[in-house]
Amino acid sequence: MPTGNHGFIAARGALLAGSLATLAGCAGVEPGAPEAADTVLRDGYIYTVNESNPTVEALAIRDGVIVYVGGEAKVDAFIGPETRVIDLGGKMVMPGLQDAHIHGITAGQPQCDLEYQPLTVDEFKARIAACLDNPAFGSGADDWLVVNHWYVQFLTPPGTSVTKAVLDSLDTRRPIIVNGVWGHAALANSRALELADISAETPNPSDGVIAHNAAGEPTGWVYDGAQALVRQAMPAPPAVDPIEAARRGMQALIEEGITSFQAQSETRETVAAFAELRERHELPARAHFLIDSGARTGAELTAFIAELDALRDAFEHPEQIPLQVRAWRPGEQQGPRLVPEPGVSIDGVGEVMADGILQAPTQTAALLEPYRVNVGSADDPRWVPGDKRGEAYIDAETLGTMATRFAEHGYQTQIHAIGDRAVRNTLDAFETLRENDGIEADQTGYGQSGDSRPLMSHAELVDPADHARFAQLGVVPVMSYQWAKPAPDSTDAVKPYLGPQRWQGYEPEGDLAAAGAKIAYGSDYPVDPLDHWFAIEAAVLREADWGPQFPQYAGALNPDQALTLEQAIRGITLNAAYAMHQDTITGSLETGKLADLLILDRNLFEIPRDDISETQVLMTMVGGDVVYMAADFAPWQ
Ligand SMILES: [Zn+2]
Repeated sequence: MPTGNHGFIAARGALLAGSLATLAGCAGVEPGAPEAADTVLRDGYIYTVNESNPTVEALAIRDGVIVYVGGEAKVDAFIGPETRVIDLGGKMVMPGLQDAHIHGITAGQPQCDLEYQPLTVDEFKARIAACLDNPAFGSGADDWLVVNHWYVQFLTPPGTSVTKAVLDSLDTRRPIIVNGVWGHAALANSRALELADISAETPNPSDGVIAHNAAGEPTGWVYDGAQALVRQAMPAPPAVDPIEAARRGMQALIEEGITSFQAQSETRETVAAFAELRERHELPARAHFLIDSGARTGAELTAFIAELDALRDAFEHPEQIPLQVRAWRPGEQQGPRLVPEPGVSIDGVGEVMADGILQAPTQTAALLEPYRVNVGSADDPRWVPGDKRGEAYIDAETLGTMATRFAEHGYQTQIHAIGDRAVRNTLDAFETLRENDGIEADQTGYGQSGDSRPLMSHAELVDPADHARFAQLGVVPVMSYQWAKPAPDSTDAVKPYLGPQRWQGYEPEGDLAAAGAKIAYGSDYPVDPLDHWFAIEAAVLREADWGPQFPQYAGALNPDQALTLEQAIRGITLNAAYAMHQDTITGSLETGKLADLLILDRNLFEIPRDDISETQVLMTMVGGDVVYMAADFAPWQ
């Protein structure tokens, strides 16, 4: 019997006292045949993400748990009359994808959708006009038209920008809001601004900006928290069955191969829907929630923590969540170490916005040195330092006190930091957390018991002096690999404003990995289309195939910052599992871990790197259950 099973025996403790005796027996003097497995995968290229045993041929699963990982010869012993055997014929198997930063976990009714496409101003207007004519998106004189997935920086030709005047020129009186794909900027028409009571005199909210033109008039652009001013004026959207929306959202995720996710900024209603899905035994992926309310200090913070406690009481059932997910929290935590069926856990707070985004014209990401400005012309540019350094929405001290309070109450903190100043503020804040939580800050800051595992999402620009602090402080950078490619939102909207020196460190995955940071992947979906395989490709190639009509986006973006394929996969499996406090039970294929895995239609290690994005998932398995199978895949008769 494989010695790896010792861990399995010890780990399950008293839970499986009955089968324990059997297993313990076979670890003794004369190993007998192991108990038959429910499922065996064999003759495959099984990439385990376990450094001591990275590729094997066979794997066996019993009761949702991996009981054997190794060569072909020994797997026969796990095959009984009832065992399902999948002959992989050399196909690749890997751990299920884990997404440590996602927003789009539900799918509601269809909405007017610009589909992330490059558009000219005329095309932009035509698409919106068509939506105005479509009764599915409303027809009354006062019905709001909500337009989504506008790739703002992809207005063509490059350099094109628009204001509310473009929307006002459409033949309608209806209020319109067009949402940029990043969620940080939206364009409203005059009617929408009027209904939202936004005038030249309206002050900026503390966490956002209302853009004005030189004459002081609102341009229609609302950034970050200012978008809420417009949304508040909208009537509640028509009721969508939240269970159905959750089910639709999950279907898209498991087809992509996502077996665990940490969802950001979710509401009580969403959590309730997922808890209900779990009660019906229809939840196909491990659901982790980070809730954000805007509460940062004082009585507001106390009230918010009480709200989080109430959420846990209502929707989190300890027997449905593996112990490791909860073990670090204060107070006595008990329960099963392994739970094959996915559950719902309320992990903490996120995403807390330390700043905005780097892209012009928004430029709300907080920088140490100013954004550059072009004092020449478009044809003959001359870039010099300007006077804008972006917006630090919260100072380091407030963030540090806040993260400490959350950790004391058993809540993890996820902070959005993009510019190098916000990144430093956030690291300073987590240093305060470390001073308070007593967890030693050293070169091996990761993985200590009792650690709330502070998370920083995005970290797109990090001052070199701060690279090593991630590992020193045990902070997980949650990176969106797919952002590291030449594109309108990088090449045009960021590069010239940072200048060549800072640009070298834009999307600094390579520097962070070299400095020992435990990089986890987070898609930030639906900021980009749901495409985790493209993200893995971008991590290693740092380019995208835009085609010959876009020569300005050819080639790689800071190729020195590329991750190896092994690093990229580890970030989207085991390291993301670490971010969710579940790395000892899932995220790699090892004896004694949950059987969360994928069968792929190609071997990522053998194909040309630019084919990785074409990968199709043939089967998604969670806790030993097949939750998705491609229509044309028939592994057993
Ligand atoms: Zn986000």
